[in-house]
Amino acid sequence: MHAIRKLRPGFGLDSVDVPEPDTPGPGEVLVRVENVGVCGSDVHIYEWTDGYDFMAPHLPATLGHEFAGHVSAAGPNTEIAEGTRVAVVPTVFCGACASCRAGTPQTCTNRRAIGLTRDGGFARSVRVPARNLLRLPDAIDTELGALIEPLSVAADAVLVGDVTIGDTVLVLGPGTIGQGIALMARAAGAGRVIVAGRADGPRFDVLRKLGLTEIVDVGEAPLAEQVMALTGGAPVDVVLEATGHPPSITEGLGVLKKGGVLVVAGIHPGPLTLPLTVFVRNRHQLRASHSTERRTWDRVVSLMARDPESFRPMITHRLPLERGIEGFELARQRVASKVMLQP
Ligand SMILES: [Zn+2]
Ligand SMILES: [Zn+2]
Repeated sequence: MHAIRKLRPGFGLDSVDVPEPDTPGPGEVLVRVENVGVCGSDVHIYEWTDGYDFMAPHLPATLGHEFAGHVSAAGPNTEIAEGTRVAVVPTVFCGACASCRAGTPQTCTNRRAIGLTRDGGFARSVRVPARNLLRLPDAIDTELGALIEPLSVAADAVLVGDVTIGDTVLVLGPGTIGQGIALMARAAGAGRVIVAGRADGPRFDVLRKLGLTEIVDVGEAPLAEQVMALTGGAPVDVVLEATGHPPSITEGLGVLKKGGVLVVAGIHPGPLTLPLTVFVRNRHQLRASHSTERRTWDRVVSLMARDPESFRPMITHRLPLERGIEGFELARQRVASKVMLQP
């Protein structure tokens, strides 16, 4: 079968033929992948920017961690019927280390991630633990199902930021995670959601289609100037970052109210320069959000099922898996927002 794999550290990806995965063992299933999203981190792995060295010992590996499809074969002790439509939670815990045995798998020392440190969804078929499956309700097709992973990452950032009813929220970054954060902040009751990006026409168009019309282009004027013009000079209650660009955090703090929270959700290739005296005097709270918890997935599914079509504008391109590298290039050149590959 066809697969998009990272064979070795360094620039590039390989579109290659690989054997079908082995028959599923106890507690495992095969998932027939129907839709798999190209994530910003997949693009970074393609370019091999700093921050992904942890993958090196696990290569070669098939990428793809945002996917949905149906169960095509179930191993012993799985209790899931073939044909069940599912999304797949990428984090795999070992179940045997001290943390797992203590009931705190979040700190598992042998943790793996499907599509990063073990084979993922850029292939027709993938073998995964049955406990990583999330059944899709009828209202959510597998294309929307493949958005549950990035939307859960976004939802976690909003939960970490304690966004609440009536808040003015500033989202830094107009990509899929930024779009998801803006949607989740709105769902959490934010009064206003402002999204900032830089000369990012295609993604600004997606934001408008999602009903997120307060958009700031920092390529045109400084962030603070534009945000203050929108709010009438009032600082914002919460800033949520999904740029991966460290200077955006300093800029975001410049419009945050005293005691306000800024959540960092991007993966940054370099360190942050932070003027600490201003930071301390403003009692700003810098928090981090990464990955997701299983219960967040359930919350996102429940929210999505209420109005699934409202999320579909996030997907701008659909391509067969064989044209996957082209999809990566569309994402990399920021011509596309979410690219969905369909094996
Ligand atoms: Zn991702
Ligand atoms: Zn473990």
